[in-house]
Amino acid sequence: MDIELPVRLGRLGELAYNVWWSWRPEASWLFEYLDPALWELTYHNPVKLLRQISPAKLDAAAVDPVFLRRMDGVMLSFDRCLRGSGTWFSEQYPHLASHTIAYFSAEFGVHSSLPIYSGGLGILAGDHCKEANDLGLPLVGVGFVYPQGYFHQRISPEGRQDAVYERFDYNAAPIEPLITRETSGRPLALHLDGRTIHVSVWRVRLGSVSLFLMDTDVEENEPWDRELSARLYGGDQETRIRQEMVLGIGGVRLLETLGIRPAIYHANEGHAAFLMLERLRSLVQSGMSFDSAVEHVRATTVFTTHTPVPAGHDAFPFQLVEKHFDGYWDSMGLDRESFLKLGGHEDAHGGMSFNMTALALRLAGHRNGVSEVHGRVSRNMWTSIWPELQEDEVPISSVTNGVHTPTWVAPEIDRLYTKHLGPDWLQKHDDPTLWERIDAIPARDLWEVRQQLKRKLLAFMRERARRGWMSEGRSPLHVLTAGTLLNPEALTIGFARRFATYKRALLLFSDIERLKSILHNEWRPVQIIFAGKAHPADGPGQALVHQVNELARDYNLGGRIAFVEDYDMHVAKYLYRGVDVWMNNPRPPLEASGTSGQKAALNGVPHLSVLDGWWYEGYQGTNGWAINADVPEYATDDERDEADAAEIYRLLEEEVAPLYFDRDADGIPRRWVSLVKEAIRLAAPVYSARRMVKEYATRMYLPAMAAAEQAERE
Ligand SMILES: *Cc1c(COP(=O)(O)O)cnc(C)c1O
Repeated sequence: MDIELPVRLGRLGELAYNVWWSWRPEASWLFEYLDPALWELTYHNPVKLLRQISPAKLDAAAVDPVFLRRMDGVMLSFDRCLRGSGTWFSEQYPHLASHTIAYFSAEFGVHSSLPIYSGGLGILAGDHCKEANDLGLPLVGVGFVYPQGYFHQRISPEGRQDAVYERFDYNAAPIEPLITRETSGRPLALHLDGRTIHVSVWRVRLGSVSLFLMDTDVEENEPWDRELSARLYGGDQETRIRQEMVLGIGGVRLLETLGIRPAIYHANEGHAAFLMLERLRSLVQSGMSFDSAVEHVRATTVFTTHTPVPAGHDAFPFQLVEKHFDGYWDSMGLDRESFLKLGGHEDAHGGMSFNMTALALRLAGHRNGVSEVHGRVSRNMWTSIWPELQEDEVPISSVTNGVHTPTWVAPEIDRLYTKHLGPDWLQKHDDPTLWERIDAIPARDLWEVRQQLKRKLLAFMRERARRGWMSEGRSPLHVLTAGTLLNPEALTIGFARRFATYKRALLLFSDIERLKSILHNEWRPVQIIFAGKAHPADGPGQALVHQVNELARDYNLGGRIAFVEDYDMHVAKYLYRGVDVWMNNPRPPLEASGTSGQKAALNGVPHLSVLDGWWYEGYQGTNGWAINADVPEYATDDERDEADAAEIYRLLEEEVAPLYFDRDADGIPRRWVSLVKEAIRLAAPVYSARRMVKEYATRMYLPAMAAAEQAERE
């Protein structure tokens, strides 16, 4: 934190380096106030802002009584957060404060300035950690920094996706060196895989929660080891297995080096499952029998699986595992055979491979999917691990995902809730009875804020298009498809997610004539905004991006289809808040949970979706729309696609648009606003990270902590 600041503003640097500011509107206000234009230009990155701002502006702020008073107020609550007193966990379980939970994840989505996430899985991890701070849970995160991050998406003049990697600038993000050559003389040495791999360790602060992030791109390493953490989800199988060894095994040793002795380990998805092997090895080395070690590791490990798509689970060929773990099994007290058995699972081709999910399911005693449907799908998918059990007895439960409310609520909506639900609404936002008061918000006020958020989204899109046009010489067609023809009066549908074929991004286009009649309806115009990346290795996904962009360019569709480039947390915030309806139509049951619809609903954007993931639980008939709620089992995917597309058209024509455009004498769509209130009332408390993390705590962390204590005593 070598940022020069006037003495009176000294603590702003500390605040910029703690992502806590990002979910406290009064804290981000400070940075915005300093230089609103620079704030937009830096994509809301206070570290960059403080480095680039003119000294004159800082000097002015240092004597501005309004600014100083507000800054001092923010610092008071910042200090309160760092002390961690008065939180749910510290009040309910004060005796457990020293029982650290180590949360391992290959990605963390905490802020767009930290390119260490690709999508839903990472954002969920970020939200989990932020909420752990808010609830006062003693949690630390373990993961990677990827010096080239995840790619940025550019749409080429032909409408295709180009993947652009930018080198991560450590000086322009809220990340501090912890064990690096600069701080400690040398990076951390890990003896792994028959040699030494060096990792720099960095820290990201989320209030009182720390994420410890490893980076292998250090001079001490061989070139191929330097590449290990270069990119998120890049590289071949060999890179992947070594990456995961650094994450799982290196991560456990890193915590040891830092003097942190977790009571519980939580593996977010199978990528981190090697941590369980390392814990076994260390217990066996300390003299425990293998069986007791397994029992102990099981009792104190939580594993969350996220993928209902079979190909989405990491699996490595046995010979690759042997190559990298040769000798390791000896120190676990195992032979080759029994070691490979720990991860052995039949793969899609009928052969056996080392499956990271199978490994985690065998070694973690607390296992869950991320929605009720996904729990059921997972039990079905993994019956072979428990051949003696009936499918419904397979010990995989579910904790439905939720989103970090303070991160995802729009400041404008926050102000409405503060006024009508009460100034302490955030403190008790997982209490459904609080939300019964939603009716107190006057329809006119809610409608006005909704319209304002839509204008903000369209302005954001226009400004991006304008900048591309001005500075990068983008083509006029590009400027158009970026959304410059969108109309703030039209019913606006948002669709943003990773472009993978099972998400069916093109479903809406299956009957172009019918779509045209919906979009071009003179009295009830409709427009659709798309966003999303396709994995650079996913050819069919990239073809979809191309097709959507071609359709957006089709003059027959009249500029009513737009595509926003480079979907990330920054774009996401404008989108979820600014559209009128959030749409999701994957092929069930392949959506594990989905969280974007939860973020939308929190902001008063109802969901139109197939009954899959969270919406299977969340849909109550009055708070949005279900596409084909009572579907028969379809014989083929094509039949299902056809039926779902027809139902989407029908819903838009007969229900959604008529409701939206049914206005009273004051121009307010009363019945629409009632539905918006229902969307909020039913989703906001339940699909919050607060409800989710409390559930993890009471159902898994607490029993695991008890088991850890028991083991200590023995
Ligand atoms: C919330 C979020 C996601 C996950 O949304 P899904 O509904 O699971 O597709 C992906 N990307 C970003 C940037 C998000 O904010």
